Amino acid sequence: MRLGAHTSIAGGISQAISRAHADGGRSLQVFTRSARGWTSPPLLEAEALSFRRQARAGALAPIAHGSYLVNLATEDPLLRERSVSAVVDELQRCAALAIPSLVLHPGSHPDVRTGLRRVARALDDIHARTPGLRPRVCLEVTAGQGNCLGWRLEHLEEILLRASSPSRLGICLDTCHLFAAGYDVSTRPGMTAVLDESIRRFGLRRIRCFHLNDSVGPLGCRKDRHAEVGHGAMGLRGFRALVNDERFRHTPAVLETPRPDRYRATLRRLQSLVQGPRPRPQRAPAG
Ligand SMILES: [Zn+2]
Repeated sequence: MRLGAHTSIAGGISQAISRAHADGGRSLQVFTRSARGWTSPPLLEAEALSFRRQARAGALAPIAHGSYLVNLATEDPLLRERSVSAVVDELQRCAALAIPSLVLHPGSHPDVRTGLRRVARALDDIHARTPGLRPRVCLEVTAGQGNCLGWRLEHLEEILLRASSPSRLGICLDTCHLFAAGYDVSTRPGMTAVLDESIRRFGLRRIRCFHLNDSVGPLGCRKDRHAEVGHGAMGLRGFRALVNDERFRHTPAVLETPRPDRYRATLRRLQSLVQGPRPRPQRAPAG
């Protein structure tokens, strides 16, 4: 895996690159604009160029996370239009920054079936407004807090089935959210089973990124509270299985915990779980 962390864009988005390097990352996640407001100053071309150049030079795989205000399932027409416009703007910023994936929580709605249908329609609107744009929305599995959709893998599959352009969509798996939603990814067999199920439902190539977080709450708590890897209810066994899974050898996987000063140590810890390639069994000489 290409391990990294969600990195601050304070002082300009290009500043995130040196922070990611300092943490020892091979990937990073950024917001492409303020995550807590509907408006944000335009992205300057010089800033975008600097980000692209530095990311390429440093062999860093960037991903982006969308605004927390967005709700693609909402029944409120004003919030829906704002949400669709915000995602369109973020996808355009991703294109300018050469970021291939924009991670998005599907949305929230009291009725699951209605909500999932509305998310698919909103994604169709977003795609209609961004013809030919390369970056993909990656739907993130959620912890299932409140009315949040997307806490069952079936929910994400349903959105893909209903969307008109599923080839323009990806998936992001968050370990804390899976665990909080009731998927026991704290063991090797548990993690492997969830990865197998995800590949069966979505296809390997659609799973474009991971969020590596431990969970403060226990299995199935339906609470979205991230703990540092190895410091929550999950322990390290599931993480060891994940970081050694050959199928995701090149996939970006980022920490999303509240202590950036701990990123470097946590990335080292995860790196230490990676086993070297197994020696090939020697064939007995013929004859
Ligand atoms: Zn996440």
